[in-house]
Amino acid sequence: MRAFLSAFFIMMMFLIILSTSAAREISMEGRTILFEQEPTLFKKGRAAFAFDIPKEADIAQTAYAVFIKGKELKDAPELFLNGQRVDMEPLCRRDGMIYALPYGGLKLYEKNTLELATPDNSDLRSSPISLTVFSLFDYEETHFVRVFADVDIFAQPAKHPDQDKYDVLHYDLAIEIITTAARIPAAVLTAQGEVTADELTQVVLDFKNTNGGLTISKVTDDLGKSLAFTHNTASSWLIITLPRTYIKSEIWTVSVYYSGTPDSTALQSTFGAPFRRSTHDSTPIIYTFSQPYGARNWWPCKDVPEDKATIDLHITAPSQYTVVSNGKLLNSQDLGNGKKIWNYSETYPVVTYLVSICCTNYVYSGGTYTTQDGSKTMPVGHYLFPENTAIEQNALKGTLEALNLFAELYGEYPFINEKYVTATHGINSGMEHQTCTSMGPKNTSPEGRGRQNIHELAHQWFGDCVTCQHYDHLWLNEGFATYSEALFIERYTSKEAFHNYVNSWTIEDSPAIVGPEADRFRDALVYKKGAMVLHMLRHVLGDKKFFDAAKAYHAKYAYSTVLTPQLQAEYEVFYGASLDWFFNQWVYGTGRPSYVWGWTTQGNTLKVTITQNQVGNPFIMPVDIQVSDIKGRSKTFVVLNNQKTQTFDIELGDFVPFLVQFDPENWILKKSVTTTAPTPTLLSVEADGKGGAKIKWQSSGDNTSGFQLVMSDNLTTWTLVANKDVLGAAIKEYTVPALPVQKAFYFRIRAISSTGELTSFSDTYGFRTGASLNAPKILIVDGYDRWDTQGRGVNHAWAATHGQAVHEFGAPFDTCANEAIISGDILPSSYAALIWGSGEESTVESTFNVQEQAIIRNYLNNAGRFFVTGAEIGWDLDYKANGVEFYNNYLKADYVADDSNGAFTVTGLANTIFDGMSFGFNNGHPDSGYEVLYPDSIKAVQGGVTCLKYSDTYMAGVQFAGVFPSGIKEGRLVYFGFPFETIYPSTARNEVMARVLKFFGFESDYSVFPKSGFALH
Ligand SMILES: [Zn+2]
Repeated sequence: MRAFLSAFFIMMMFLIILSTSAAREISMEGRTILFEQEPTLFKKGRAAFAFDIPKEADIAQTAYAVFIKGKELKDAPELFLNGQRVDMEPLCRRDGMIYALPYGGLKLYEKNTLELATPDNSDLRSSPISLTVFSLFDYEETHFVRVFADVDIFAQPAKHPDQDKYDVLHYDLAIEIITTAARIPAAVLTAQGEVTADELTQVVLDFKNTNGGLTISKVTDDLGKSLAFTHNTASSWLIITLPRTYIKSEIWTVSVYYSGTPDSTALQSTFGAPFRRSTHDSTPIIYTFSQPYGARNWWPCKDVPEDKATIDLHITAPSQYTVVSNGKLLNSQDLGNGKKIWNYSETYPVVTYLVSICCTNYVYSGGTYTTQDGSKTMPVGHYLFPENTAIEQNALKGTLEALNLFAELYGEYPFINEKYVTATHGINSGMEHQTCTSMGPKNTSPEGRGRQNIHELAHQWFGDCVTCQHYDHLWLNEGFATYSEALFIERYTSKEAFHNYVNSWTIEDSPAIVGPEADRFRDALVYKKGAMVLHMLRHVLGDKKFFDAAKAYHAKYAYSTVLTPQLQAEYEVFYGASLDWFFNQWVYGTGRPSYVWGWTTQGNTLKVTITQNQVGNPFIMPVDIQVSDIKGRSKTFVVLNNQKTQTFDIELGDFVPFLVQFDPENWILKKSVTTTAPTPTLLSVEADGKGGAKIKWQSSGDNTSGFQLVMSDNLTTWTLVANKDVLGAAIKEYTVPALPVQKAFYFRIRAISSTGELTSFSDTYGFRTGASLNAPKILIVDGYDRWDTQGRGVNHAWAATHGQAVHEFGAPFDTCANEAIISGDILPSSYAALIWGSGEESTVESTFNVQEQAIIRNYLNNAGRFFVTGAEIGWDLDYKANGVEFYNNYLKADYVADDSNGAFTVTGLANTIFDGMSFGFNNGHPDSGYEVLYPDSIKAVQGGVTCLKYSDTYMAGVQFAGVFPSGIKEGRLVYFGFPFETIYPSTARNEVMARVLKFFGFESDYSVFPKSGFALH
């Protein structure tokens, strides 16, 4: 009685929590909104909404969703995007529904149309609806419902006290499915369990039936004798009275006969209804998705992760379809009445949320996996939607790579006597169902190396074979699966790609990863920080011990369930000491360190000072200090940082440090790493008229003790020109004495802080002397200031790429920042030609501001020669109207389109200076600088001549020879809609530069350059 009462109170509390939780708003902060439709009445039939996509929207890289807001939208209208039905199941909220839009469904330069249609032209019980098309953040793509569900769906439902008195040994589920509705015509679940308490009088199973859609016709014992039962709708407990009292170790058996429509409310599964019907390419699909507590919606079971059992499944389905489920397919048999029965047997213990059925017109693409020791083989493959086979038929490749890798790292595939397959289902997310992962459409690609395919496969070891006992410890599943994605990249791509992947994670450091917040499946917390904790543990233990411990932990807890202390204990065996300090700060604790550090030398000793300035205790971590000498040879030293401020002495012997880096591979989760001085900005490198070079820079001088200037003639090996003893904090320029003539030299500079830290280097600028010291020169202007995640804009050497081409041609040049032109420090009128690179700037950074336009106007009117390249110049000046007149009259161009329509090669037009040339740019080629996202398509106007084309429709370049609008003599212009430095290979770059310079009147033998400009025609 007491037990019943307390359970009753627990149940009541659970209901109160559920009913009072507020609908979570969808925050639009930081998102790109492609379209917003004001509330409008939509009752019936079909309604279309058309919209353009703003140019800034990155539809190639970002996923989008549409939120259809309106009450009572449960009878979901169908959604069509550009005429295609969106087959993904929507997420239903109390205030509307959300669809993830398929990749490639949106069109950049065309009208996009969303259409809503009510099924069978029925009425929609809807108040006015509004539509918002919005971008998804990275993690939301695959955790769509987890993020957008409006109710708290993840708290573990109350357990009946009697459920702790037995252990389920085996389930047998005979179930019939139809494909016309999410309904079960008939099912029998038989459960067999062992009594673990002194005695047991009733078996309590979880079986959710809040909507009353399911009917239990009878419950029997193993002899077929009917048993009394009550089915509590509110608690979802099916309480079965055993025929007698069972005592400890006795085995009981019950069979539940039921039919009907499973509860479709989203409350127990992260992806909405656990038993689902949907369609793909007009074909129906039935599939299940039960994590975390949704198994109880469609089959009676002890629905908690801590109790695993084996299961046999006998699934009767329409005979034209294929059924995929857990374990080994024993046989399938046509029943002759349009139905077929599929008998599967999962002989390895499985947790209830990993039991799965998928049924549709699959195409199977598979092969064989051989164990690491060669002793066994097993089928491995992919059940695909027929319409996706072109994209996914090669998935086996990556799947086998990952199987081999994880078997090597974690121990042999744990379900080797059965199989590993994936089956496509109707959600854009994977689910690691044991031996039969459910996979989002097309998500195995490319070639089985898709993130989702790798992640779910890794779950077979961690999540399925070794399962977190409680969702508060979900990181034990998701941390390993997420880290395995990175390990796959490390093995099959590169070490660098691996570190980049880990560094790309958005990580939450609060609250703790173990605890009540963890069971919300928060990506940045459970998945990403969970993976980062393993990454850091690897750095603490070293590779060998880390992976040996993973293997031992997996072997020890195979086919059972675990909590975090068990993982810790296993890692401590290999670490050889307590890891409390590590787990307390990273697993049970919150926050992360902020580091300030610096280095100096004292004789052969490198002195590294590390300060942690976050509030609270110091984080204890081994820190990599990587020391490189001027030739680029490097050594890594590991220091154990365990105090808020600490200085380490590292003996270097005869190794002379040039560059010292703090945790360069980013093994530690940290807020920031700072040195205390700002990086100086290089302003100009110009010939001093005596064979030397004058270098000017700018710096606020904060916390700066001086600068280090380095020089190179090949951009690879650098020599120190002057150190802080010469270049004190107040110094802003330096002259390098005469250098060999007709050679190019490049410079960059960095600061040394007052406590000895070195900043990163500035941009790289060069100069070249001619045969004669007073010969007219070319000025290269670095106008590329944009900073972005590709790191294209800052601390770059693109001006030097221009310089190399000019040097190859054989002409002298100086280099400066556009800021030096604006300030008047460098005068274009002193130069015979200007070569201006604006890279891929855009309106925000201003490609040419009003002052720059005035300076260039003046220059061209006075017989200047101007070679200018960059993406987005047309977009900024012409389309965004920040200089239309200048663009048309001085760059002789009209803006046509914001990209090259996919082309990354250009061809010279006949009878122009590029006649006969064809070359590539952009597109990730190792010699092509960086990826150009929006090369401008342009056309020549105002006397200009189109000289380069991307295709027959899209043009890339303009040349002009003639007098500019207020000019007095002929000037010349060449303008490209894409950046010069992205042209490849370098021979093509050099050829382009040579043709431009010849057009400008230069000869590679510099002496014959026409000093006085061109004659008037
Ligand atoms: Zn996962």
